[in-house]
Amino acid sequence: MIGNIILLGPPGSGKGTQAKLLAERLKIPHISTGDILRAAKGTELGDRAAEYMNRGELVPDTVLIAMIEDRLSQQDCAAGCILDGYPRTIPQADALSEILTELNREIKTVLDIEVPDDRLITRLSARRVCACGATYQLTFNPPQLEGVCDLCGGALYQRDDDTEESVRNRLLVYKRETQPLIDYYRSQGLLVAIDGSGGITEIADEIYRAVS
Ligand code: AMP
Repeated sequence: MIGNIILLGPPGSGKGTQAKLLAERLKIPHISTGDILRAAKGTELGDRAAEYMNRGELVPDTVLIAMIEDRLSQQDCAAGCILDGYPRTIPQADALSEILTELNREIKTVLDIEVPDDRLITRLSARRVCACGATYQLTFNPPQLEGVCDLCGGALYQRDDDTEESVRNRLLVYKRETQPLIDYYRSQGLLVAIDGSGGITEIADEIYRAVS
């Protein structure tokens, strides 16, 4: 049993990249609620969610709670998982602890990736993604060929919610709705702060040590 690990951090802190690396290292699923919502594009749920996402707002708790309950109940999560982007509000965190209790599981660690605000906006506006799930940074992790994914050769694009206006709103929403989770988990003795301002490998190693 490896356990359930939550990654907290503002948009642009690199938590998606780190969640993916940690999941590969621990061989447990990486659950990104943002990825699940984006993959639902074209369905009624996905298109309704996109209206919130493009404005940089949170999708309503009821939708997310049902989604995470369904995902955590699947067999591949039995030994644990990495939660990336969930919970984002106190009601979501309360629901998560009920779901895990039902499943006879618990939270092992909550990692809070900390990056100064001014760096976040610069990082997000330079982010490019591929439909295969790869993520690049034009400044410190660029693709070998401009606009082309190193892994699959697909065309890179900018996420609809990485526009400057949406990014600013996402940061405000993070501070208002998600930051209170830091104290929530600290008071339960589960929180470990990670300095997210260094290089990808250095941070990945720090995270791995924190959960080992
Ligand atoms: P992310 O890929 O984690 O940056 O999430 C992109 C967007 O998906 C967020 O800005 C929200 O609009 C939505 N989203 C993802 N996870 C959640 C969540 N746990 N609660 C509410 N909205 C979410």
